[in-house]
Amino acid sequence: MASALTDKLSRLVKEIRGQARITESNVADMLREVRMALLEADVALPVVRDFIARVKEKALGQEVMGSLSPGQALVGIVNRELSRTMGEGVSDINLAAQPPAVILMAGLQGAGKTTTTAKLAKHLIEKRKKKVLTVSGDVYRPAAIEQLKTVTKQAGAEWFPSTPDQKPADIAAAALDYARKHYFDVLLVDTAGRLAIDEVLMNEIKGLHALLKPVETLFVVDAMQGQDAINTAKAFSDALPLTGIILTKTDGDSRGGAALSVRHVTGVPIKFAGTSEKIDGLEVFDAERHAGRVLGMGDILALVEQVTSGVDMAAAQKLAAKVKSGESFDLNDFLGQIQQMKQMGGLSSLMDKLPAQMAAKAGTMDMDKAERDIRRKEGIIYSMTPLERRKPELIKATRKRRIAAGAGVQVQEVNRMLNEFGQMQDMMKKMKGGGMMKMLKRMGG
Ligand code: GDP
Repeated sequence: MASALTDKLSRLVKEIRGQARITESNVADMLREVRMALLEADVALPVVRDFIARVKEKALGQEVMGSLSPGQALVGIVNRELSRTMGEGVSDINLAAQPPAVILMAGLQGAGKTTTTAKLAKHLIEKRKKKVLTVSGDVYRPAAIEQLKTVTKQAGAEWFPSTPDQKPADIAAAALDYARKHYFDVLLVDTAGRLAIDEVLMNEIKGLHALLKPVETLFVVDAMQGQDAINTAKAFSDALPLTGIILTKTDGDSRGGAALSVRHVTGVPIKFAGTSEKIDGLEVFDAERHAGRVLGMGDILALVEQVTSGVDMAAAQKLAAKVKSGESFDLNDFLGQIQQMKQMGGLSSLMDKLPAQMAAKAGTMDMDKAERDIRRKEGIIYSMTPLERRKPELIKATRKRRIAAGAGVQVQEVNRMLNEFGQMQDMMKKMKGGGMMKMLKRMGG
């Protein structure tokens, strides 16, 4: 699957770079790829449909039509729309309540509720300077209560004891009373996990909500949950007035499509992302970064920008004019082209910007070697006299030996470079006339 996606995205990039004009049909082509990428990232189908429709509307509107490089603009729209769907800006925990501000944690068993409760406690202590109390209402698993005790200690917060023979509502009421009397700013309430949606447990958490009147009701969801996330989110969202989402295990290898589905279904912001098993593995959710991941595009937009801005249009136009006027393409021009490749930021830095799967594949191409090759070619041309660069046909055996020695390479390498130059020169001759500018425009985006 990864390699199929890699191929698709490679094509997408090519299209983005090669497309001169945006039309209804090429937008449809590109959107088909985006749609596939979303489905492969486990975004639920209705969410994908809705998303594609919105992007299409924008793409066919003025935003893209009037733009200089429509392909690039389309990627921009997809990225922006994805970030927008997942929520813009930062939305921290709301604590605007009569203290203690109660935060109710909801979610399936194993989603990471207990761990996240402690992470959140640490965040509120360190970043918001709050006095935090935690309590577990999970009377079904004694280990869960102990686990909360352990992680609460690690977080530097206080833990309110509870035991399996108590009723969750009684525990909650006692904890709330304790928090009030001891001037806690925040009470974090961990709840019983459900393996699947369970009527009884749903009613229990609804009861807790009614009793505690939390300022935040956070739905904790595992980013690895994939397609199922949409159903879980819907069930919790129907039962409780959710105020936010915490997406856990974003350090896993899922493409994180769950974020889009969950956000779509609940309509509430994703506030934090769990990034490791450790107590400090919690980050404010970054929609933009996550968008790139969902699309599996890494930083494709940045890549496209770098590629297009790397081409020096002025130099390229000069070259085009020269070809048009019948002047021959010489080694100085060839050097110019090599240098433009370097200007693009170096091949390996371009690779850094690719999505992981694509980069992994490209990794087998040995970018270091490709870059070394460019530098060696440059070295060879620098060892030539200005006359030789202008009139490469002068370069015969003796000159070749001198040039090779000057560049510290074998004569064969000089030959190879001259061959390559010869091919390029032939191509330039063929392009003499109208073709050149068209090609350069394509290179430019
Ligand atoms: P609960 O049943 O919802 O309370 O889930 P737990 O808090 O017990 O977490 C279940 C498992 O997921 C534990 O092994 C946690 O260490 C792990 N976990 C929770 N959050 C994260 C996260 O953000 N990243 C990773 N890698 N593991 C996590």
